[in-house]
Amino acid sequence: MSHDPECIFCKILEGAIPAFKLYEDDDTFAFMDINPLHDGHALVIPKEHHTNIFETPTEVLTTLMATTQRIAKAVQNSIAPDGINILQANGHGAAQSVFHIHFHVLPRKNGDDAKLNWGLRPGDKDHIEQLADKIRAAISD
Ligand code: 5GP
Ligand code: ZN
Repeated sequence: MSHDPECIFCKILEGAIPAFKLYEDDDTFAFMDINPLHDGHALVIPKEHHTNIFETPTEVLTTLMATTQRIAKAVQNSIAPDGINILQANGHGAAQSVFHIHFHVLPRKNGDDAKLNWGLRPGDKDHIEQLADKIRAAISD
C-alpha cells in the first residue's frame, strides 16, 4: 500500500502521531481536525497515500466518499450544525496544506461567512475529544 514517511496523515495512520479517531475500515480512516472551523470538523482519508484528486484511483475515491457520507451523517445527527460542507482541496492555490487527499466534513453556522481559506487555529483538545466521542456514538452501519 502506498505510504509517504514524510506525510503527516500517513504518520497518523501508522499511529506515530495521535489523533481523535472516529472510524476506520480496510480502506479509509476518519478523525477530528485539530484546527477546527467549528465543532465537529472532521477529516476523512484513504489509507493509501495519494496526493490529490488527480492522482487518486477512482475506486479509492469511491470508498472515500462512502466513508465521508457516513461521517457527515454522524456529525449531522450528533452535533446538528446549521449546515455541512464537504470540501476537498487540490494544490496550494486551493489552500491544500496536507498533500494526502482528504475530505473535510465541515460544519457551518448560519451567517458565519466562512472563507475557503478559513485559517488554521488550534482547537481545545479536551473539547475536540468530547465531540469525537459524541460523533463516534452516532456512526451507523
Ligand atoms: P487542507 O488545507 O490541506 O485542505 O487541510 C488540511 C487539514 O489538516 C487542516 O484543516 C488542518 O487543520 C489539518 N491538520 C493538519 N495537521 C494535522 C494533524 O496533525 N492532526 C489533525 N487531526 N489534523 C491536522
Ligand atoms: Zn500520506
